[in-house]
Amino acid sequence: MAAQYYLTHMDGVNGLHHITAIAGPAQENLDFYAGVLGMRLVKKSVNQDDPGTYHLFYADAEGHPGSDLTFFPWAEMAPPRIGYGLALEAALEVPAGSLDFWGSRLQKYGVPLGAVEQRFGDRVLPLVDPHGLKVALVEPRVTPQRAFTPWDGGSVPHERQVRGLYGAQVWEHEAEMTETFVTDVLGFERLGEENGVIRYGFEGSAGVLDVRETPEGRRGAWGVGCIHHLAWRVDDEEHQHEMRSRVEASGHHPTPVIDRFWFKSVYFKEPGGVLFELATDGPGFAVDEDAAHLGETLVLPPWLEPARPRIEEVLPPLKLHQVA
Ligand code: ZN
Repeated sequence: MAAQYYLTHMDGVNGLHHITAIAGPAQENLDFYAGVLGMRLVKKSVNQDDPGTYHLFYADAEGHPGSDLTFFPWAEMAPPRIGYGLALEAALEVPAGSLDFWGSRLQKYGVPLGAVEQRFGDRVLPLVDPHGLKVALVEPRVTPQRAFTPWDGGSVPHERQVRGLYGAQVWEHEAEMTETFVTDVLGFERLGEENGVIRYGFEGSAGVLDVRETPEGRRGAWGVGCIHHLAWRVDDEEHQHEMRSRVEASGHHPTPVIDRFWFKSVYFKEPGGVLFELATDGPGFAVDEDAAHLGETLVLPPWLEPARPRIEEVLPPLKLHQVA
């Protein structure tokens, strides 16, 4: 057991931990992800660097690492400048045989949908969220192993629910530098290439990175409707320290460890400019809230508690609406 644990460490990160994206108005974001997609709002907090902005976390019922799509609703921000150095699509796993259900449900709510397509043997339904973020619902060819707890508080039946994050697509000016970094330093495997996209991922854990090389394009920039960063799983602080050292030794510039309470974080840019994070699996979302009532009240880090009245005054009110 100890040897296996050690091997896991040496191999790199353990798949996707969370994806954070930039949204428009918070209420519309909540209505879509908790209402239409039926995910659980597991944490309602603020951006720790910009406490006048919410940070909303959607996941499975328990907020397992790898299930978690989070948003900064920066409604006043412009749309992104589409280009390289950006992550531009988030993929969510749905159960085999559920894309017809999702197609009808999303149509009912007027969600812009693409045609169902095949990618690397997976069945994929592309859609666009209310603020322009590209999202792909994926029935995987091979279902990755993951912890999943269905959520009873939404209107999507258990057997159709979003099971967690499947991956993300990034655009790169030069795919090779990113490939060397993610395979040599972070321990991804190159899984294949198809239609101008190279796929990297992990054996036995969820989280693919699809790299599209766009050498003739321009550099992208963040805006409403794109991904802010991709966070990769590490077991614990020791594993995080080890991965942080490897990132630093490869000539990159990781931040110090930052305590996000539900996990500990280290940030850095991969060679192509996409912001990555190393996030620990624990302690998890139930560390500061009763597991039965996750996401119901505004949770603030202790140093912001004295400013709670002012923060609550600035944040727009949010209401969880039930949809059919
Ligand atoms: Zn993050």
